[in-house]
Formats: sequence, C-alpha cells, structure tokens
Amino acid sequence: LAQLFRPLDMLGMVFREIKQGLIDMEAMFGLIDTNAEISDAPGAPDLIVSGAHVRFSHVDFSYEPRRQILHDVSFDVAPGKKLAIVGHSGAGKSTISRILYRFYDISGGAVTIDGQDIRAVTQDSLRRAIGIVPQDTVLFNDTIGYNIAYGRPDASQAEIEAAAQGAQIDSFIKAMPDGYNTMVGERGLKLSGGEKQRVAIARTILKDPPILILDEATSALDSATEAEIQTALAGVAQSRTTLVIAHRLSTITDADEIIVMGAGRILERGTHADLLAQDGVYAEMWALQQAEAEAETRAAAE
Ligand code: ATP
Repeated sequence: LAQLFRPLDMLGMVFREIKQGLIDMEAMFGLIDTNAEISDAPGAPDLIVSGAHVRFSHVDFSYEPRRQILHDVSFDVAPGKKLAIVGHSGAGKSTISRILYRFYDISGGAVTIDGQDIRAVTQDSLRRAIGIVPQDTVLFNDTIGYNIAYGRPDASQAEIEAAAQGAQIDSFIKAMPDGYNTMVGERGLKLSGGEKQRVAIARTILKDPPILILDEATSALDSATEAEIQTALAGVAQSRTTLVIAHRLSTITDADEIIVMGAGRILERGTHADLLAQDGVYAEMWALQQAEAEAETRAAAE
C-alpha cells in the first residue's frame, strides 16, 4: 500500500514546490492572482537578446476594461543604460515592470526588446532575460544557501559565495555558526528587510540577466544598510539595461533618464539636472525630500 501512495506523495511534493514558486512570484509583483490569459503564440520563437534594448512605444494598459491605467507611455532604455521611474503612489510604476515581465498584455502600443515584440516570443525566454529585485523577497523554509541559489540549482558553492559577496551579505552569513546551511524563513532565522533584499540581489547576480528591474523598498532602512544595498545594486546594475522604480530620489540622480509618472501618464522626463531646471513636479519632490533629510539630520544631532 505504501508503494501505491509514494507517487501521490511525490505529486504532493511537486505541487508544493510549484505553489511555493507561484507564491514567490505573486509576492514579487504584489499580485493576488496570476493571469491565465497570457500564453505563448503558436510556434513562438525564443527571445534573442543582443544588446538588451528595451522600448515601450505608446503603451496603453488596463487591468479592468473600464479603468485605463497607463496612457500612451513611451520610453527607450538603450543597452546598459539606466531608466528611473518615479511618481506618487498609484501612478503606475510597478505596472510598467509587470508589463515588461508580461504578467499582463497591453491594449495599445508595443513593448519590444532588441526589436522583438514581447508578445511574439516565449514567456520562458523573456523571463530568463529579466532579473527582478523586488521590494520584499519571500524566503523559502530552507538554508540561506538554497535561497540564494534558487532559480540556479546547478550553482556551485563558490558561485553562491561570489554572488553573496557581490550582494554584501557574505560576511553576515559566514558569521553564523551554520554559515550557508543556516535555516531561514518562517521556521528558521528571520532576516531583516535589508538582509532579504541582499538575498534577492545575490539571486539576481547568480541569474545574470541582461535586463534588470529594481523595485526600491518604500520603507526606510538605516543609513549604513542603505549604503551597502546601494553599493550592491550599483554593482549588479553595471552594464545591464536597468529599470529602477525609485522612492528616494537621492538614489537615482545618476540615471540616464528619469520619467515622472502621474495617473498613468509621463508628466516629465530628463536627467536629474534637466528635471531640476524644469522646476516642475520632480523639482518639487526633490525639494521636499531634501527638506525631510535635513530635518532628520537635525533631529539625530539633537
Ligand atoms: P506604489 O508606489 O504605491 O507602489 P505604483 O506607482 O507602483 O504605486 P501601480 O501598482 O502600478 O502603482 O498601480 C497603478 C494603478 O493600478 C493603481 O491605481 C492601482 O489601484 C491599480 N492596480 C494595480 N494593480 C491592480 C490589479 N491587479 N487590478 C486592478 N487594478 C490594479
């Protein structure tokens, strides 16, 4: 009888794995449900990445037919360049990253990578080309080593450690009695927001994607952690085409282009210097954040 049930047990295990994977994806994108309507076109070829040039051309999008979310959004991120997306809560910043990952199809315009429409290539190849560092990373109830290697189960211990070094989390891991075998997650060591984000960065370093989406955490981290994370992110973004969803403008002053979103439209665009000179929405957000930072520094000194 036990033999009869073993395949069922196996099936249960596989199901749990798949479910965990989906939970991770959903958490990454803040999705409640995954979208079953997205499927590969018959005989769709794989995406072929040459330089990783990302282009949104006149993109319109709605989650529900009666409420349009994105209106005529166009931008170009040339190979290896960095685009920052800023704007108030609900402006449509995360929606752009979900569309690039093709969690949803658009209702107007086109999204291309190196000239290939993302609807015309396999989802598998598209998602292999894109790495995401989400705001909040879900960890599996397993070792920290497993959590870093997740998505690249063939990675060697040396590769895992190199990725952890790049993510500035290697010394933290090595300081623990069980090192890379330390259990984490709900039933193990609970990691802080900053530590979890560094695990996500290490995962991305191992995945080595040509395109990167960084979703900056809204919650403030202490300044030492913030500095370490910024160093790790700068390392991983180097020479990759990068889209950053930013909340703190001080982290994106070096972006090649910044787009300022408001109610699903691009309100302003340019470099940090261009936008300050425009003296519009961005300049106002910048002044506000500078004043907040100064007030914090004063409060800390008192
Ligand atoms: P935040 O800075 O708060 O993360 P955001 O700029 O990333 O905000 P989005 O998450 O892109 O904003 O949301 C844009 C709009 O789309 C919001 O008005 C939101 O209510 C709506 N929206 C987001 N996800 C869904 C969904 N799954 N179904 C329906 N509407 C959604």
